[in-house]
Amino acid sequence: MGLKAKAGSQEFLKKHVLDEGLCTGCGACVNLCPYQVIYHDRTVQLHKCDLEDGQCYSFCPRAATDLTALRKLLFEQDDMTPEIGAVKGYYFAQAVDPELRAAAQHGATVTVLMELALAEGLIDSAIVSIRDQDFMQNGAIVNDKIEIRKNAGSKFTVSPTVAAFHQLVTQESGKVGVVATPCQALALAKMKLNKINENENKINQLKLVIGLYCGWTLSAEKYAKLLLERNVALESITKMDVPAGKNILEFYTNDGVKSLPMEEIQTCIRESCRYCMDSTAEYADVSVGSARFAGSWEEVRHWNQLIVRTAKGKELVDLAVRRGVLEIREASLESLNELKGAAVKKKKEALKNIIEKSGSAKKLLYLDGRDPVVKKYLEVLGRL
Ligand SMILES: Cc1cc2nc3c(=O)[nH]c(=O)nc-3n(C[C@H](O)[C@H](O)[C@H](O)COP(=O)(O)OP(=O)(O)OC[C@H]3O[C@@H](n4cnc5c(N)ncnc54)[C@H](O)[C@@H]3O)c2cc1C
Ligand code: SF4
Ligand code: SF4
Repeated sequence: MGLKAKAGSQEFLKKHVLDEGLCTGCGACVNLCPYQVIYHDRTVQLHKCDLEDGQCYSFCPRAATDLTALRKLLFEQDDMTPEIGAVKGYYFAQAVDPELRAAAQHGATVTVLMELALAEGLIDSAIVSIRDQDFMQNGAIVNDKIEIRKNAGSKFTVSPTVAAFHQLVTQESGKVGVVATPCQALALAKMKLNKINENENKINQLKLVIGLYCGWTLSAEKYAKLLLERNVALESITKMDVPAGKNILEFYTNDGVKSLPMEEIQTCIRESCRYCMDSTAEYADVSVGSARFAGSWEEVRHWNQLIVRTAKGKELVDLAVRRGVLEIREASLESLNELKGAAVKKKKEALKNIIEKSGSAKKLLYLDGRDPVVKKYLEVLGRL
């Protein structure tokens, strides 16, 4: 079963999450107190704390979580699938505006949905990931379309986006929407499950989570070193992508498109991502990824896969189609099965890595072997 904090939640995080290489860098333990900070892309504990029931522990996606309770809280049970979580609808989608598509990562579905939520008053602020002066990603609270658009595109280093959520000034920021990777979406979902007095107002303001598919993030330090060795200027990179079937990471730079082989990039992947079972942001309202299963890469690179998970997510997607800002196509069962296959592969890989690290299928670090989804894949691996 998943590890439980006994004394000192921060001490627990330090010993069992930070020192064990499990920290995802989501930022959920930052900005709650002065002791826990982000340094470059690392979460660092500045001082010991002996608080037994700290919010940092309750919100951390790498501390024990009752995933069954979370699924019940957030989703309709008829929609649940073991492979990719709740599915109300599965589509290929893209922004109707070609300029927006050109600026965005794939089909600009994330940007178009966030812009619309803001324009229609469903949210008053959005939290997206921005690049700071040191070329690190950070969460930022933005209130207008221009800022959302300016920060479209993916950077594959960690963004402690959830730390920005803790910076919200309760009334001023109003209703909030967040763009989140799977581990960040899980942290936000844990805040809904484990409402703690001083955070209750804030979490009630969270009205929308747009999840991103996520395979891994890169260690900023290793990645910067690799770029330097390969003469790619970090400051010139505007976005990056892994084109389907090519086994390279592409960099869009001010001097054109460059690339590095995936074998070199793999050496920079953060250790914590090896233990991550979620590739599709299962705890979001909608989840968005590249449309890699729909055809050749050239045909689909400006399209997204879109999983609608909640009623709120469905309302937003329906509205986007009615307003003429989003085009959607029903995806084939074959594509859905390919997506599920890829998601299962990540789940099995993560479980294998966890067992290898802990030395026993009975010690699953942050996971609980009694959870039905975890149990299912332990069974598939023959480790039950
Ligand atoms: C670290 C990471 C790994 C990913 N891995 C995969 C994958 O394996 N397979 C796959 O299909 N898709 C993956 N994606 C998602 C994919 O890159 C696109 O974000 C997604 O397809 C949405 O495309 P879009 O055109 O709608 O996005 P856009 O409209 O361009 O919006 C992208 C949004 O992502 C936010 N963002 C950018 N960088 C980060 C970051 N580091 N952390 C958090 N938010 C960020 C931006 O603020 C923006 O709001 C990954 C994304 C990230 C950030
Ligand atoms: S995973 Fe998130 S909440 Fe947990 S220690 Fe790391 S940054 Fe903090
Ligand atoms: S692979 Fe998992 S742990 Fe790593 S950044 Fe993505 S969601 Fe977070």
